Amino acid sequence: MNEYFSGFAAAAALSLFAITANAQDDYPSQPITMVVPFSAGGPTDTVTRLISEPMSKELGSEIVIQNITGAGGTVAAGQVAKAPADGYTVLMHHIGMSTAPTLYSNLPYNPLEDFETVGLVTEVPMTIVARKDFPAETLQELVEYLKTHADEVTLANAGTGAASQLCGMLLMEAIDTQLTTVPYPGTGPALTDLVGGQVDIMCDQTTNTTGQILGGEIKAYAVTAEERLANLPDVPTTSEAGLGDFQLRIWHGLYVPAETDPAIIEKLTSALQVALQDQNVIDRFAELGTTPVSQEGATPEAHAEMLSSQIDLWAPIIKEAGVSAD
Ligand code: ASP
Repeated sequence: MNEYFSGFAAAAALSLFAITANAQDDYPSQPITMVVPFSAGGPTDTVTRLISEPMSKELGSEIVIQNITGAGGTVAAGQVAKAPADGYTVLMHHIGMSTAPTLYSNLPYNPLEDFETVGLVTEVPMTIVARKDFPAETLQELVEYLKTHADEVTLANAGTGAASQLCGMLLMEAIDTQLTTVPYPGTGPALTDLVGGQVDIMCDQTTNTTGQILGGEIKAYAVTAEERLANLPDVPTTSEAGLGDFQLRIWHGLYVPAETDPAIIEKLTSALQVALQDQNVIDRFAELGTTPVSQEGATPEAHAEMLSSQIDLWAPIIKEAGVSAD
């Protein structure tokens, strides 16, 4: 390489460095899109909208929420995996990120390789609920009814890969009964149909069922938690109600495409940590039975560890249940 060329290359490398350094330093200099993989009005959407406000303040940039629905959250994840790794497209996803690789043989992304983790956000139990005139008052009566009327009962979920699908699968396993499942693009429309009586039962996060349970619009049989919840004191836990150790806690986390600059991820992680200490977020989460993770949980490391351990946890359970999206 001659002197001029190597000098030119060095200058080019320097200016490239300056541009890259600036891109990180200036981040964010345009609105950030936060992708929700389910429809509006569901738990993932609710949690995202709640944390996006203080995150946006902290980052000094607008956060636009985009609901991309389909295939239990996998359509959105597939799109974010292919988005530019510039920090302007962020995905909120839940436990489905860890079940999809077993449920889908042709998943168009690899959760461990195509994303960087930003941090965990919440932990939330599920509620087993039914339309308000469903002919069962307790979980024992519900189980009895499902076993004897299996071909008449419809079970709503948010698609294969959704938390509600996982919970429904575990419920059907626990009572050894197959029901007809009705997939929706998210809990929002599923809950509307449950309240309207178009579908019979569902298992979904307290985030969006609590209001309807307390308002008497739907019936709750159990919470999939170890202990009763402060805001649903009359709803027994699954084990109290006779379903043994059937417990399920859903977790949410934020992702960006693989190879996003660590400096950008650091800014997103600290904004997430600030958001999780915001009083309005804390109060609303408490009302919705949704627990914000600790500051240690809201880190890329804790999130990456959760993701890979959950992929390993769910794979044999899903295979054993014989459930697949194919
Ligand atoms: N709760 C839904 C699920 O079953 C998704 C949503 O947030 O709408 O995964």
